[in-house]
Amino acid sequence: MSTPRYNNPRIDRPEQVNDAMNGEVSLDYPKVAWLGTMLLVGTIGSALTISFSAVLLFVVTTCITLLFGHSLGMHRRFIHRSYQCPKLLEYLFVHFGTLIGLAGPMGMLKTHDMRDWAQRQNQCHPYFAHDSHWAKDALWQLFYSIKLQNPPAFEAEAEIANDPVYHWMEKTWMLQQLPWALVFFAIGGFGWVCWGIATRVSVGVMGHWLIGFFAHNDFDHIDHHNDWHVQGAAVQGHNIPWTALLTMGECWHNNHHAFPESANLGLEKGQLDPGWLTLLALKKVGLVSDLVTPHDLAPRAELVRRK
Ligand SMILES: [Zn+2]
Ligand SMILES: [Zn+2]
Repeated sequence: MSTPRYNNPRIDRPEQVNDAMNGEVSLDYPKVAWLGTMLLVGTIGSALTISFSAVLLFVVTTCITLLFGHSLGMHRRFIHRSYQCPKLLEYLFVHFGTLIGLAGPMGMLKTHDMRDWAQRQNQCHPYFAHDSHWAKDALWQLFYSIKLQNPPAFEAEAEIANDPVYHWMEKTWMLQQLPWALVFFAIGGFGWVCWGIATRVSVGVMGHWLIGFFAHNDFDHIDHHNDWHVQGAAVQGHNIPWTALLTMGECWHNNHHAFPESANLGLEKGQLDPGWLTLLALKKVGLVSDLVTPHDLAPRAELVRRK
């Protein structure tokens, strides 16, 4: 009996085109306007209004949106369905994930899955592979987007595609900062808006690129951080141990390429995964259930253990 290759039903279908190589990278004006504004207010505005409480707000809101929003909400639940939770909690977590400022839920889903699909092909465009010079990759990922000549069709499952809340979140993803900005302004004035919105979004978006750059490049050519090899894939994932706390466990990216639907990312001894620990705590109080681990997943013929 042959073992199946990893399959993402939103993209991987027999009739799909497999050309992840040919495409055009061009300036994405909404991205430029959005991040440009955040960077401007987040640097000049924040420098002029710095205070202890504003910096504390930045730290607290960054931790909450990264852990509950980006990692647990957007990535492990919304994109990978790696655990179950009440719908209201899912909406709240995905809203926090949207606050990171990268895109709305539908945009995040498609961008994530297309990159993942491209990296699993035999070859893919350097935009997907992150294998350009770091400065060029930063410019590309932060301000440009790619248009493939022959893109595969992308189709979200009915549960997501027919959900009016997610369509609303997608349309209003930038505006979702606004109620928080008003609350911050009412309590702490303009300084809180600069630090709690603009600096947080700037750091979140640039940090997301930086981690993505290191997680897809083998700079030290040392295998000991990377236990799994996906045969035939153009790009391998790499673990970045020193960023475990900073990324809420998302840095165990070699594990993630090996077991995409696992709710646990820090699989080996000593791999700290704050996201997984939080899920275990939420499970204890009955808020989440059915946490998926590698043992629950079908074996992959193309997955090879390196040590
Ligand atoms: Zn990856
Ligand atoms: Zn993923």
